[in-house]
Amino acid sequence: MDNKKMICLDLDNTLILSDKTHIEAYNRALNYFGYEKYDQHCLIKLFGRPKIEIANVLMPEKNLKEQKEFLKMHDKFLTTRTYKYAKKVKGVDFVLKKLKKHYIIAVVSNTVHESIIYLLKGSKLNPNYFDLVLGSDEVKNSKPCPDEILKAKKLLHHKPEYMVGDSIYDLIAAKKAKVNGIGVLTGHHSKKEMMMYKPVVVLKSIADLPKFLKIG
Ligand SMILES: [Mg+2]
Repeated sequence: MDNKKMICLDLDNTLILSDKTHIEAYNRALNYFGYEKYDQHCLIKLFGRPKIEIANVLMPEKNLKEQKEFLKMHDKFLTTRTYKYAKKVKGVDFVLKKLKKHYIIAVVSNTVHESIIYLLKGSKLNPNYFDLVLGSDEVKNSKPCPDEILKAKKLLHHKPEYMVGDSIYDLIAAKKAKVNGIGVLTGHHSKKEMMMYKPVVVLKSIADLPKFLKIG
């Protein structure tokens, strides 16, 4: 393990496709609090941001406590109902098998830990690929803050070589943690948007990662 390098991976829309999971969970939670469904395309644009910021956009007139209650309800619907809509990004098993031979792998996500476990279950992605899984509830500030990457570094005693993600918030977090950012286009941010945050490369999907790392 010691001669291995370390890599941090985002989960949603990097390893798994989970739009439907989150859209349904948010809309069910909105409904629970007496709100109308939120426009799907507007909702998708918020993905990747800290969840509390999303809650603030969806219900701006509510206070922080109520917004946190709303997010708890989102997680409840996710872990009981909507997790099953998550699907693996094509080729991800091949990529993770290759990566595991050369890298210690940490998943760093803005989803809470318990929901991550359900998302892995729903998408049938084997959790044993990962040496560490960190959710937003395990740090003070989630991405775009670097806390998750820095905590992974501390817990795994390795400096991450790369942070791979589909959103600009992954790349901002990478920059703040002084880690090389890699963008993937399986989410909702364009190459042009990502290039503003100086990733070392933007790949079409994580399936292209082994080739870029010269381990494929
Ligand atoms: Mg993501």
